[in-house]
Amino acid sequence: MLKIHLGKSEISMIQETFLKIEEIFSNSLKENNKKIRVRGWIYRTRSSGNIVFIVLRDSTGYLQTTIKKGNIQENEFKDAKKALVESSVEIEGIIKEDKRAPGGYELQSSSFKIIQFAEPFPIVEDQSPEFLLDKRHLWIRSQKLTSIMKIRSTVVWAIHSFFREREFFEFDAPVLQPNQTEGGSTLFEVRYYNKKTYLAQTWQLYAEAAIFSLEKIYNVGPTFRAEKSKTSRHLSEFWMAEMEAAWMDLNDIIEIAKDEIKYILKKVLINNKKDLEILNQDFNKLHKISNSKIPTITYSQAIDILKKKEHMNIEWGKDLRTIEEDKLLKHFKTPIVVTNYPIEIMAFYKPEDSKYPKTALCFDMIAPDGYGEIIGGSQRSIDNEYMKKRLIESGEKTENYEWYFDLRKYGSVPHSGYGLGVERLISWICNLENIKDAIPFPRTMLRFNP
Ligand code: ATP
Ligand code: MN
Repeated sequence: MLKIHLGKSEISMIQETFLKIEEIFSNSLKENNKKIRVRGWIYRTRSSGNIVFIVLRDSTGYLQTTIKKGNIQENEFKDAKKALVESSVEIEGIIKEDKRAPGGYELQSSSFKIIQFAEPFPIVEDQSPEFLLDKRHLWIRSQKLTSIMKIRSTVVWAIHSFFREREFFEFDAPVLQPNQTEGGSTLFEVRYYNKKTYLAQTWQLYAEAAIFSLEKIYNVGPTFRAEKSKTSRHLSEFWMAEMEAAWMDLNDIIEIAKDEIKYILKKVLINNKKDLEILNQDFNKLHKISNSKIPTITYSQAIDILKKKEHMNIEWGKDLRTIEEDKLLKHFKTPIVVTNYPIEIMAFYKPEDSKYPKTALCFDMIAPDGYGEIIGGSQRSIDNEYMKKRLIESGEKTENYEWYFDLRKYGSVPHSGYGLGVERLISWICNLENIKDAIPFPRTMLRFNP
């Protein structure tokens, strides 16, 4: 066995000598009786007499191994028999076809080396969601969360490559911000030396400053909102993928948003087929959506559908809540874009649409199957007097926004942007019951540890 010296060559030798489980299933090594080595953690173990069956897992998959007394050293056999689930091990052996084994192959071991004997693992079958959240640091090893985290990795990577391919620059905004953007009620206050400041509810206001140098920008970053309602769609800390662009109007960014969603879906379909299967997500359904046209309707048309087809008694002017979004989406198989929400219920920076008075130049994208709003965006007002009026109406002080008003004084241009809720999108793609599973360590009103 190789010793770990931190010289470069030794490390690469160690890495070369171990195969990833996925490689075993995908190459021809399994056929030719060649000795191979794998390492990972014991996922399942059971023994009867002179044989131990161990399912080994690594980051790429699961492999059945059999350890027979007589085929390996006596002390190694004893270790194999004694080792509990989650023990870390290195196993050497030959791959043989076995119809009963998951994947059709098993490793017949000739050497079994314990790295660490695990203590009895606290997570056993049928434990409550709350217990699993308490043990989240261990539960992220589960097959389900592993697949979700892999899809999350694809989603975030896809967002970066989508915008980079379109020549957007990545731009970072401060997380500690003096202003509210999305309403004071969801602000997280932070003690800042002997003053107070807030955690970012969005990068937007700073993005609007940066478009004057970079024109087209995007970001994926943590976002904080003190949501007081306990829903399956709201986290206190979530990741938002935002974009902002000079010279673009509402229609321009709606097209980008539609393309982005389809682009991300396609990347997940290519990279995470196995994970979607593990999560019971319908591959063909997502595949179809990734090639479909995403329809756009107005808020007024949405209200009409809810009144006529769902017989809902909903007044024009009220925001679409979860229940309305879900009922509306019963009539669509793809996500939809809804534009022109009533201006009264919109944030101060959204301008009025001169074509449809009393409505804003804004849009939401709503996911099908009850996953709700995944994107919110708008054209941005360039009228300081209008924005000041809106802020004052909502009880805000305008002093903190002076810097923001400056942006409309020195070469103001039309511009627009939107924010995509990364966990909302993951929830939909992964077919999740609760948004908490879309992020490794969820923070909600009632939980901020581990
Ligand atoms: P909602 O009405 O669903 O609470 P919002 O209109 O307040 O959302 P926006 O300010 O438009 O949300 O934020 C942009 C996107 O960020 C939303 O479309 C959504 O996908 C996501 N998002 C907003 N709040 C949360 C949250 N608390 N947890 C997770 N994602 C969120
Ligand atoms: Mn919104």
